[in-house]
Amino acid sequence: MHVAEGGFDVPLKCSPEEYKHFVEPAMQEAQNSNFPSALDIVENGLNAHPASEGLMFLKAYFGYKIADTMSSELSSFPKVIQPLGNGALMVDGAMTSQLLGKFQEIVGILSEAEESINELLQVNPKSQEVVAFKGYIDSKKNQLGQESENMKATISNTPKIAGGFCVGCRKSISYDTQKVVFRKSSVSQLEAWHLPCFQSKTKN
Ligand SMILES: [Zn+2]
Repeated sequence: MHVAEGGFDVPLKCSPEEYKHFVEPAMQEAQNSNFPSALDIVENGLNAHPASEGLMFLKAYFGYKIADTMSSELSSFPKVIQPLGNGALMVDGAMTSQLLGKFQEIVGILSEAEESINELLQVNPKSQEVVAFKGYIDSKKNQLGQESENMKATISNTPKIAGGFCVGCRKSISYDTQKVVFRKSSVSQLEAWHLPCFQSKTKN
């Protein structure tokens, strides 16, 4: 049996019984893009048949599809950093924390998929298809890791430069939960504002 969808064409070794009870129902869920259910079925199968190579591969494959779906959903996420004009930038702290949490969740799913593919590699060290699939998982994981590192760096460095207090009301700013505006006040200085403070100031 073969998984041809998405360009992967990997021979899956499994017994007729594994095929009938787990692979077939899982593939049916996958055809309806219901990858979490497909993964559940495969994981149940692995509990009963831990050495099934076909189920190991499907576990990695469905994990990858879940991660892929989740990361394309992130593109419809509201923008966490928005330019407000005149060099001012608005950073939505709560949304940023949520987004970082999502990144972490996806990286976790990919790590599990990778574990399964590593097991499969131990029994099939020369399978080019398995090696190639591991490459897909790795690159996706690295890409997400890099994006979230960049975001974390921006979020943790900017407050260090701008300080912990709002220029408008002089009260402290919670960068993890509030909407904050950063603006350059002179060549070297960066100001931080609560969004409402910044808005009421620019109205006057
Ligand atoms: Zn303020």
